Amino acid sequence: MLTTSTTIPLLPGTAIPQIGFGVFLVDPEDTQRVVEDALAVGYRHIDTATGYNNEKEVGAALRASGIPREEIFVTTKLRNDHHKAGDVEGAFERSLEALGLDALDLYLIHWPMPANDRYVDTWKTFETFHADGRAKAIGVSNFQIPHLERLLAETEVVPAVNQVELHPIFQQRELRAFQDGHGIKTESWGPLGQGKYDLFGMVPVQAAAAAHDATPAQVVLRWHLQTGNIVIPKSNRRERMAENLDVFSFELSDDEMRAIDDLDENRRVGGHPDEIN
Ligand code: NDP
Repeated sequence: MLTTSTTIPLLPGTAIPQIGFGVFLVDPEDTQRVVEDALAVGYRHIDTATGYNNEKEVGAALRASGIPREEIFVTTKLRNDHHKAGDVEGAFERSLEALGLDALDLYLIHWPMPANDRYVDTWKTFETFHADGRAKAIGVSNFQIPHLERLLAETEVVPAVNQVELHPIFQQRELRAFQDGHGIKTESWGPLGQGKYDLFGMVPVQAAAAAHDATPAQVVLRWHLQTGNIVIPKSNRRERMAENLDVFSFELSDDEMRAIDDLDENRRVGGHPDEIN
């Protein structure tokens, strides 16, 4: 049975809460309040990035919450310009310092930036963070199958996670199947479609919401969880944070899951990883 505390095992000895809280586009001046609210309503997994410019404020919220460090799973990501410049060790240390942490639970390469052809070398440096214990797990984001194939062929540690755009009209079926075959966990960014299309008005989402006395957002998040994805919805509003976490008192039927599966158009709403360099 899925619960707020459900975790997905990563590398030996580590596990990630299947539902977490993302802070992309949360202004630095709002971030401490937002993350404190998220922790207060029950999230124990926070997803930030150097590129979000709010690691320091996330760190302040972690400390202000008074929740023991080991009870909160913290992810951050290597910013693209640091990746491009080969400033990987320095960027990692600055992230730890900004967050006020000795170690990360998960450190991700934010984008592969394939035209720069640096991601294999960057990953080898990530492996040293894992080996010395400063990153309990390491993973990637926005990697496509050929990028993952290169890491598998040319490096030692299999990425624990690939965090990718994923929501009902962009379900990443081929990538998910590849990752399932290699023990790479799938994490959905933009799980609510970032408000960029009318996900909440779609008939199968509306129908399931009516049937379970749930909101469309809850139905979509439940679909991610039952699909097996790690999910990190963002909201600045405390009532929505609570709503998005309150997805464990109902279960979508096989027919409801299939109807949402059928919404897939293989259509992104965000940038294409090959074009971000
Ligand atoms: P989401 O799909 O989580 O959508 C967030 C939007 O949905 C906000 O506008 C929010 O508005 C709104 N929203 C949240 N909850 C509800 C609700 N219950 N009902 C109605 N509207 C709602 O998009 P994100 O891009 O934020 O993705 C989630 C996280 O994924 C990010 O915060 C970040 O951590 C990560 N991410 C990673 C990327 C990567 O490249 N690795 C790229 C993009 C995101 P409001 O705040 O006003 O409630």
